[in-house]
Amino acid sequence: MPLSDWLKHRRQQLAGDPAGKRTVPGGIWSKCANCGETIYQRDILENLHVCPECDHHFPPSPDEWVAALLDKDSWRQTNSNLTPEDPLGFIGRKSYKESLAAAMAVTDGHEGIMTGHGRLADRAVYLGVMDFRFIAGSMGAVVGEKVTRLFESAKDERSPVIMVAASGGARMQEGMLSLMQMAKTTAAVARHSDAGLPYISILTNPTPGGVLASFASLGDIIIAEPRAHIGFAGPRIIQQPLGEELPKGFQRAEALLEHGMIDKIIHRRDLRNELAGLLGYLAGETSSKVGATR
Ligand SMILES: [Zn+2]
Repeated sequence: MPLSDWLKHRRQQLAGDPAGKRTVPGGIWSKCANCGETIYQRDILENLHVCPECDHHFPPSPDEWVAALLDKDSWRQTNSNLTPEDPLGFIGRKSYKESLAAAMAVTDGHEGIMTGHGRLADRAVYLGVMDFRFIAGSMGAVVGEKVTRLFESAKDERSPVIMVAASGGARMQEGMLSLMQMAKTTAAVARHSDAGLPYISILTNPTPGGVLASFASLGDIIIAEPRAHIGFAGPRIIQQPLGEELPKGFQRAEALLEHGMIDKIIHRRDLRNELAGLLGYLAGETSSKVGATR
């Protein structure tokens, strides 16, 4: 088959793939869900999962986030042994047990968040990275416990915390136990803050619901990725009772910055250097001492 025909066939295949609307599909070529361009997948991977054509930010895995942000070989994962329970015996369209098994199969057993510590530009940091692949990065008891332990350990070690949020909100399959994590994580962030230690929150696409309404919005500095969707309830839920069109760009990072809800929008390629600068600033260093070298 000539290359042009193969490309046409591949484009048709990808156009009919509903999963392609949320993620970069597998294979050598990918169709960008945002601009529709067919792109050599290696170009996207080498570009930190950012589309080279339209700048759309796709979600990296937690391992890829760690590699992008931290100094080489400095990462130590913590609390990876925590596994979820099914306290309600929840059964929806499928059972919670089945959802957990499917989510476990596509992640590395870190549940909805990977936590640990390492060094960023030779500075000790505690880092949490949520994983949207695990039941939409929702916060159940394990995510809440891991976030809490992350802040408690960082407090004990007198270290800053960086959190990369990506979540669908609370994990409804755990009912009230999920909602309780909002108060629990908020208290842990407060104790870390009371000890005079900095917390930088990075909101990626999407960050709604109970995660935004607790630890994700409590950073001393709140950063968002370009065009990330950030808001408590979804636009449709808000629009229904209002009965009117929502403004263009509603709940996007740019609108939140304009209204003072976040501090800065940073492109992924600049994130590591900017974090290094911010950590130095928060540690009280002058700008001449602040730098980001691997
Ligand atoms: Zn694109």
